[in-house]
Amino acid sequence: MSKELSYYEILEVSTNASIAEIKKAYRKLALKYHPDKNPGDKEAEEKFKLINEAYAVLSDEEKRRVYDMYGKEGLSENMGFSSSMDMDDFMEIFNSIFGDSFGFGRKSYSRYSNSMPYPLDLEIQIELDFNEAIFGTTKEIEIEYKTPCSACKGTGAKDAKFQTCNYCKGAGQIVMRQGFMTFAQECPKCDGKGKTPIEICSECQGSGAQLKKEKINVNIPAGVDMGHRLRVPAKGNMDNRGNRGDLYIHFDIKEDEHFIRDGMDIYIEVPVFFTQILLSEEIKVPSLDGELTIKLNPKVRDKEQFVFPNKGAFNVNNPSQRGRFIAQIKIIYPTKLNSEQKELVRKLQESFGIESKPHKSIFESAFEKIKSWIK
Ligand SMILES: [Zn+2]
Ligand SMILES: [Zn+2]
Repeated sequence: MSKELSYYEILEVSTNASIAEIKKAYRKLALKYHPDKNPGDKEAEEKFKLINEAYAVLSDEEKRRVYDMYGKEGLSENMGFSSSMDMDDFMEIFNSIFGDSFGFGRKSYSRYSNSMPYPLDLEIQIELDFNEAIFGTTKEIEIEYKTPCSACKGTGAKDAKFQTCNYCKGAGQIVMRQGFMTFAQECPKCDGKGKTPIEICSECQGSGAQLKKEKINVNIPAGVDMGHRLRVPAKGNMDNRGNRGDLYIHFDIKEDEHFIRDGMDIYIEVPVFFTQILLSEEIKVPSLDGELTIKLNPKVRDKEQFVFPNKGAFNVNNPSQRGRFIAQIKIIYPTKLNSEQKELVRKLQESFGIESKPHKSIFESAFEKIKSWIK
């Protein structure tokens, strides 16, 4: 008996799964059925499409709500849902999750080796100073990667000895029934392997891994930002045959005291004294390219921005492209005046005549008007 699986069944999650659970399930399944891993396998390709379609709906709060209420039929084209999505659309979803947009390496999905109990790709985070992220740098970092435990040959089982999984009877899957529907789910006890260790390897506590340290030099390109990840090929975990997965580096970037970064745009706040504005002074501002000059004038207002195109941070994928450098004026007024300064300001005010009392000229007629009202 076959009935169309629900999106939840396709992703092997419960109907009340959180977005994190959905994402996790998607990651796992999308990697498993990725066409590059299953060349020429039509069934895997079909499955990959379904997984992406399901994810596109369930990862979107609005679409999921509609789907929960009305099913697939409720999802219309104008919700951005189309049953005619093609492989490119699916690849786009896949890349948006696995971050191929970084521009390093064409294929950046995690690789699992069926024979290893741990993933081959390794993810780490490193901290960068503000300027290191802006201008790029070379860093020596120490990584810790997994190699197969020598005692159990990376199996996690003592003497690499297994027995048939008693939960799935070796099938690696369990079949669930729900009303009319039956669907297969990966066996949770053996993770789909169909077998479990007779005894856990005591050397690695069943993880199958031994940790190894390595120092590597990494070139970090100019313009990296939080949310980016850098792929370093063949510096991930090792499998039984000595092949290594990839290393993915995430960045935590420290803030600067003066510059504020927003993507490729760089902001700086420039305090100026009110007289500098009135006297149209020229001031120097620090920027990523040394000093920039700003010519003030009496029309400059508080929070006014001077924008320098192409003087911001570099595009990590294209160093010839840069963001904007934005200097925002902060006008400072004196909070205390000595008697000499008071005298000078009073003289200044007098020199403007009626212009220095704008409220008077504007309100003159209003004063007359309210007098007649009150009478
Ligand atoms: Zn099992
Ligand atoms: Zn072991």
